[in-house]
Amino acid sequence: MRKQIAAANWKMNLTYTEGQQLLAGILENDLGSKENHEVIFAVPFPYLIMAKEKTTTLKNYYIAAQNCSNKKSGAYTGEVSVDMLDSIHIKHCIIGHSERREYFGETNQVLAEKVNLLLEKDMTPIFCCGESLDIREANTQNSFVETQLKESLFHLSAEDVQKVVIAYEPIWAIGTGKTASTEQAQEMHAHLRSVLAAQYGADVANEISILYGGSVKANNAKEIFASPDVDGGLVGGASLVALDFIEIIKALK
Ligand code: PGA
Repeated sequence: MRKQIAAANWKMNLTYTEGQQLLAGILENDLGSKENHEVIFAVPFPYLIMAKEKTTTLKNYYIAAQNCSNKKSGAYTGEVSVDMLDSIHIKHCIIGHSERREYFGETNQVLAEKVNLLLEKDMTPIFCCGESLDIREANTQNSFVETQLKESLFHLSAEDVQKVVIAYEPIWAIGTGKTASTEQAQEMHAHLRSVLAAQYGADVANEISILYGGSVKANNAKEIFASPDVDGGLVGGASLVALDFIEIIKALK
């Protein structure tokens, strides 16, 4: 059975001390996660080692970076490389979040480069995709998201693509309090899985976890995660409150 994942995306929030307290508040309720469950905290770079130390002895808890460079190493002031993350034993990294695409000009091509660097180090890319409100209103979201997948992932072998976690995050639902309806989420997730199946076959597509992101909250997670093609969530705002995120973890199938 494919993995069901609750991933926290702290974004550029919390001081170091606040981050420590939040993690402690969640981990003290160690939920003894089920075999097919994973809990991931995507924290700011300066907190990675602290967060990693707090979770090393816990099963199925992982720490992720929120971004990585598409360059291997060298004169790229301010960038953080995949090799650096690997050297502190970080095994997951979010890439292609819509905020990075929008504010930092990340293209599907750049993301393909990041995917390659991460997979070379046996790290798990959490690849974000999703359409803007304009695209949704024009009803062209399926082909838009399909192109994001094709241009960033479809150069991969069937073996490698199964190492990627996909997060579908409609931009109009991020931080807006407006989630996609369960039908909209399921419909897009099923579409993504069929696109993967067309390229790689149904067996491969069925192994890939597809998370939903965009205003997942303690009170709607269970309903959203219940859909057959939704394998958990990538959670921003609600991951900053221990009790809320605990409820979201509990909502995994
Ligand atoms: P949100 O953010 O849960 O605050 O909508 C989700 C995300 O951007 O990953």
